[in-house]
Amino acid sequence: MDCEPKSKELCQLNITSNLVGRFNISTKILSNEEIEINIKRLKKSQFGINCIRHQSVAIIVPYRNRSEHLQIFLNNIHQMLIRQHLAFYHIFVIEQHGDDPFNRGRLMNIGFIEALKWYHGFDCFIFHDVDLIPEDDRNEYLCSKQRPRHMSGYIDKFDYEPYTDYSTGGVCALTRSQFELINGYSNNFWGWGGEDDDLTERIVFFKMKILRMENVFQRYTMLKHEQEKPNPIGSRLIHMNKKTYCYKGLNSLRYKMIERLDVGHLYTKIVIDPCYSKHQQLVV
Ligand code: UDP
Ligand code: MN
Repeated sequence: MDCEPKSKELCQLNITSNLVGRFNISTKILSNEEIEINIKRLKKSQFGINCIRHQSVAIIVPYRNRSEHLQIFLNNIHQMLIRQHLAFYHIFVIEQHGDDPFNRGRLMNIGFIEALKWYHGFDCFIFHDVDLIPEDDRNEYLCSKQRPRHMSGYIDKFDYEPYTDYSTGGVCALTRSQFELINGYSNNFWGWGGEDDDLTERIVFFKMKILRMENVFQRYTMLKHEQEKPNPIGSRLIHMNKKTYCYKGLNSLRYKMIERLDVGHLYTKIVIDPCYSKHQQLVV
């Protein structure tokens, strides 16, 4: 694995060199082999652009049972990231095993911990829904050292209407120290909703502001899916959690590892059991 920056020169990313700007996302469902071929071809065509961005980025994707979305995501995101010439990036797909309610926040925390075990040098973590496909490669997949970033500001499903200033849902980017400061996501949100608003509350509690670049680059397409059932106590939990940020979250995380597998060069798959029956009572 080549994690060392190849050159000290910073990329001047612009459309005339390597970027294409707004692009039509591909909704073809390709096999892993076909995606790898696309990547190889693209890398060849980018050969000679000898510059980098100075961040190593881990992309953390919470996942269960959305295989078509995953293939579309991988094909599009790899091609975009290659055009952006990051110093280094790697995708981690954190899969929840079994039929218990989905716990997106817990999977994000597991992704953070496991990514650092895989490579200790990551300095930026992008927490990314599998069904959100960026539409413009000028949306830089990097962290801001000053503030956590909300990246998926404009989504086709919502007619690209801007979010409130107070959101981190969909795709957000935090440096390692920002994520550690807020003690990660809450582990408590089982089922749809709440964990992203809780993350926002944590960011505000630790006196940071969320950065959203008000530009046309941060547009995403959401792939179609059924709406999950909301967690009935979600909003109450957000309120209750406030006093527990420092000792509940990343530092109280428990899970059972089931499988860890590098899938070619595409991603590292981590299958876990979040231990629902143990934790739903304990609420850690
Ligand atoms: N997710 C998943 N399987 C599920 C539910 C959620 O993989 O059964 C992951 C996936 O990454 C998805 C994200 O969690 O994009 C957020 O869930 P969803 O898309 O249902 O939420 P919404 O779009 O309504 O915010
Ligand atoms: Mn979705």
